[in-house]
Amino acid sequence: MLSYEQARQTVIDQLKKRARPPAVVGVSLWEGLGLVLAQEVRTDREYPPFDRSTRDGYAVRAKEVVPGGKLKCVGEIKAGDTVRESLEPGTCVQIMTGAAVPAGADAVVMIEHTQREGDGVRFERAAHPGQSVVLRGSEAVAGQTILTPGMRLGYAELALAAQVGAVTLQCAKRPRVAILSTGDEVVLVDETPGEFQIRNSNSVSLAAQVRIAGGEPVILGNAADRVEDLGEKIERGLKEDALVLSGGVSMGKYDLVESVLKAIGAEFFFDAVAIRPGKPTVFGICRGKPVFGLPGNPVSTMVTFELFVAPAIDLLRGAEARPLTLLEARLAEAIKEKPGLTHFLPARVEWSGSTPEVKPLRWQGSGDIAALAKANCFLVVPADREKIEIGERVSVLMRKDVV
Ligand code: AMP
Ligand code: MG
Repeated sequence: MLSYEQARQTVIDQLKKRARPPAVVGVSLWEGLGLVLAQEVRTDREYPPFDRSTRDGYAVRAKEVVPGGKLKCVGEIKAGDTVRESLEPGTCVQIMTGAAVPAGADAVVMIEHTQREGDGVRFERAAHPGQSVVLRGSEAVAGQTILTPGMRLGYAELALAAQVGAVTLQCAKRPRVAILSTGDEVVLVDETPGEFQIRNSNSVSLAAQVRIAGGEPVILGNAADRVEDLGEKIERGLKEDALVLSGGVSMGKYDLVESVLKAIGAEFFFDAVAIRPGKPTVFGICRGKPVFGLPGNPVSTMVTFELFVAPAIDLLRGAEARPLTLLEARLAEAIKEKPGLTHFLPARVEWSGSTPEVKPLRWQGSGDIAALAKANCFLVVPADREKIEIGERVSVLMRKDVV
């Protein structure tokens, strides 16, 4: 059986092998957050476009500034002022942060190190050339590539695009991810379940996870545990860029997902992973589309999505698969688990002291959504560990939606 790292790598390898350039759409800067860039962005001019002062102070010739010495102040330059005249020898000019340093001047002395005396300025210490000045073109030359295809647009990337006037950005379209739950016991969330039925919460959590991962969820509802109904709805799902199913992948008589997919022509790369919860997870390619059969117990569905589906969505958008958000924490309570499988236990990490501390939460197994709603991470218990003592370092997989 594959470890979760091997299974995840298998997903990544298979998607890379089949990678096609993503469909592209022009998006306003204001709408670009979280999208993956599909173009190069270049500077429209040099940055900074003029020699820029980084301080409020006085623009000077550095060699004319001596400790205790005085220079005549001949004017003032504000940010945004047009500056054409050069600084006369033996003088200085008051200058503000962000303003253009005049020709002739080669340094700015911050105001805190000066004293104003009438029309003159007395300096407390010597200055050196280049001090508090960012030279024209030192951040970027004109036409320089500053953002490249595959980059994720966060606030800094968007600000950089804004700086160079790239108001519309060609971005990868969010891949459409079909979500299909299965099970005769499952009713839609706005229906009233019978005594032995349950509401379809998995489609809701999966839709949220697809959004966070950068995809667009396409809700296909629920398929009954019958070959015809499953087959029909899977066919519908295969029209999208990827298909995620929940339930119907265990060993039960009515767990039909794998056999129905097989009949349609799916090629499988794994149908079990050495983890708990989430062991019977299925990954295959069907008609060129990635298909994931996730176990139906809600916490299993959530964990396996994060481990195996999220990286596929990154790759479908032309980005690299992001690494898992693993963090190291100090275990606050001893734990004992059956060895052989990597366990992902609902847990809470707190940052009260100098190192993060993690505590597993009481839970009733992989159906216990309430336990997960109290958790902000999964404590990762390695397959080869049966007992972990208080104070040991452990890995936690952060829930990136709430932390
Ligand atoms: P399965 O993987 O099909 O054996 O499902 C395991 C268990 O997960 C079922 O007994 C249900 O309690 C639960 N379950 C399955 N599908 C859903 C769903 N869509 N929403 C919430 N719980 C589900
Ligand atoms: Mg089922």
